Amino acid sequence: NNIERYVGRFAPSPSGPLHAGSLAAAMASYLDARAHGGRWLLRMEDIDETRTVDGAAHEIETALHALGMRWDGPVLVQSERKQRYLDACARLAGYVYPCGCTRKEIADSNLGVGADGAAIYPGTCRHGLAPGKQARTLRLRVPDAGEDGEEISFTDRWLGRQSQHLATQAGDFVLKRADGFWAYQLAVVVDDAEQGVTHIVRGADLLDSTARQIYLQCLLGYPTPAYLHVPLVLHDDGEKLSKQNGAQALDLARPLDELHRAAAFLGLDMTTATEVAAFWEQALPAWQRRLADLKS
Ligand code: GLU
Repeated sequence: NNIERYVGRFAPSPSGPLHAGSLAAAMASYLDARAHGGRWLLRMEDIDETRTVDGAAHEIETALHALGMRWDGPVLVQSERKQRYLDACARLAGYVYPCGCTRKEIADSNLGVGADGAAIYPGTCRHGLAPGKQARTLRLRVPDAGEDGEEISFTDRWLGRQSQHLATQAGDFVLKRADGFWAYQLAVVVDDAEQGVTHIVRGADLLDSTARQIYLQCLLGYPTPAYLHVPLVLHDDGEKLSKQNGAQALDLARPLDELHRAAAFLGLDMTTATEVAAFWEQALPAWQRRLADLKS
């Protein structure tokens, strides 16, 4: 507890109810915040309004309550913060450019796919839209191979040293999408900075996004938080558990079963608790032991 000020957060997208994968991420970030005597914030990442499901945000809050997880302060809602993303984007002038390329055109240029599975952008519109093209997206220029800052490295508290070549593994990425919504990468960086988040604990599906987020933090003059990515809960067939592929909602009639399952997944050494409060009392030192094990 020697960190003076720890601010953590859980940032679910309200595109469906919590499932086993999101609970593992929520539990890890919650325990890490509590173990450091820190604050734990809740943010609804509903910036992609095409995926928002009515009532899901409320359902997530109810689930966290039933599971005994209490957040600090008001819930930040991304869909209410578009002006902030616009302001941040304006501060990136010189790095941001309008792009008129379609997904197909980008895929046809065959630079391969980036870390997140999207085709790497060849930079066609970097120096102006091609004649006859209309702006579809706003993109952020990343350093070219050989330029300063081309490689971003950080030490993940769970996974160890990580690095990514922005030019070859991400490419110039979208800040504002063709459908007009701000991209997750921009919104998450602006919000983490404004909420003073010092420690990000989340699922390993976002590991590939971290270098882009650190790059954005640097351009915007924000501090870079500490990162910890927990392993992903997988389906029996090895697929990532997600709302899109039908992950089951948690059974909130049996909160202890769900909590114990998530704790086991995180490798926490627990004995069976008979009450939610007792579970958390036990889970806190178990998380601290788990972190110590990771270090050794
Ligand atoms: N909203 C993202 C998700 O649910 C998480 C963002 C983050 O933790 O950085 O996948």
